[in-house]
Amino acid sequence: MHRLLAEPNISQYEGQLGRETIKVTIGRLFDRLRASREMPPYAAVLDSLSADLEALALAQLQPVINATGIIVHTNLGRAPLATEAQAAIAEISRGYSNLEFDLEGGDRGSRYAHVTGALKELTGAQDALVVNNCAAAVLLVLDTFAKGHEVVVARSELIEIGGGFRLPDVLARSGATLVEVGTTNRVYLEDFEAALSPRTALLLRTHPSNYRVEGFTEAVEARDLVALGARAGAIVAEDLGSGALVDLAQFGLPHERTVQEAIADGIGLVTLSGDKLLGGPQAGIVLGRANLLARLRSNPLLRALRVDKMTLAALAATLELYRDGSYRERLPLFRMLSASVDALRRRAEPYCTAIKNASAVESDAYIGGGALPETRVASIAVAIAVDKPNALTAHLRRANPPIVPRVDGGRVLLDLRTIAPSEDAVVLDAVTRHGG
Ligand SMILES: *Cc1c(COP(=O)(O)O)cnc(C)c1O
Repeated sequence: MHRLLAEPNISQYEGQLGRETIKVTIGRLFDRLRASREMPPYAAVLDSLSADLEALALAQLQPVINATGIIVHTNLGRAPLATEAQAAIAEISRGYSNLEFDLEGGDRGSRYAHVTGALKELTGAQDALVVNNCAAAVLLVLDTFAKGHEVVVARSELIEIGGGFRLPDVLARSGATLVEVGTTNRVYLEDFEAALSPRTALLLRTHPSNYRVEGFTEAVEARDLVALGARAGAIVAEDLGSGALVDLAQFGLPHERTVQEAIADGIGLVTLSGDKLLGGPQAGIVLGRANLLARLRSNPLLRALRVDKMTLAALAATLELYRDGSYRERLPLFRMLSASVDALRRRAEPYCTAIKNASAVESDAYIGGGALPETRVASIAVAIAVDKPNALTAHLRRANPPIVPRVDGGRVLLDLRTIAPSEDAVVLDAVTRHGG
């Protein structure tokens, strides 16, 4: 045991795993060896132990460097938080807080009150509610209003988003009957009108987050659907998913429907994610008319979907950056989006000098995360030509912190749009240590 613990190959894991975990892992390895009644040579035991520790270290939840160029990368934790939001989490998690305590009256308060004011002010909605994620928000809306009723959805919008969340299945689970209207490519207001029945509860619009219907297409305008809903006595809900609070055209991107536009169109219930284009923590936000939100609040399911104080702290701090107008500089998401291609090209220079067979190439970065699926963001990547790209990517995944690049043809691409300038030195160092 002592000899193994002193090996540099083993002690290097102490920082990450702690000495106790290493001892436990050695103990388990010895148990396995005893059970198999074999005593392999010392070098083989050492190899086996370092493989075990490596696997443990890689399995830990830890920061990674995103070199994929996909800005809102669901597998890599979506939106990085602003320092203000990080600080708010640290402060609120340190001790007690007025999470559900009204400091003015000295009695019980609402946890949602800490963010509803900002959400209403920013979006023009009458009321707001926050749950664990957008999928939970959609579930709450359907459970509250659609159970035992009919929900009318355009065939072009019957989405499946990542992680097995399929709208038709969620509808079925909530006890609603799905009424599909139109065709895959063309849906008219008359289709919705013809589908109305006394059992119609909801007319549902969804953001086709991860695909696009192009060519010979026809969709129903939100305002027309709202007018139809008013005539028919049905609620019009819209699942925006990505949920932009500002016009992305200011970053040279195509216009993406904003939350404010949906509210201004008269949509009764709007749902969106907190950690996509909003740039905040994982959360699901419901905005809309006060009478509808009141019904969501009284649904017992809300208790099971309720957000934690750290989420609320981070969300409140993030919303504050929109209120004071500093979101462009303060939110990492928008900092990444607004970096100029020239600036990225300059950052590529030290890489190209230090790494053999590396060159700066034009690259397509993506917003990702179910937002603007087709929209490419012009970027620069450091392209490294190597015989075995998979060996280099495996090496980078084992760096500290791990680096996740993209592979294109025979080249490993490090997209500089999602690598923070402060991470350049670590990335460069990790690549050169592979002998690149
Ligand atoms: C991403 C997305 C969701 C799910 O959001 P989560 O916050 O991941 O639960 C729901 N609807 C649409 C349209 C989306 O794009």
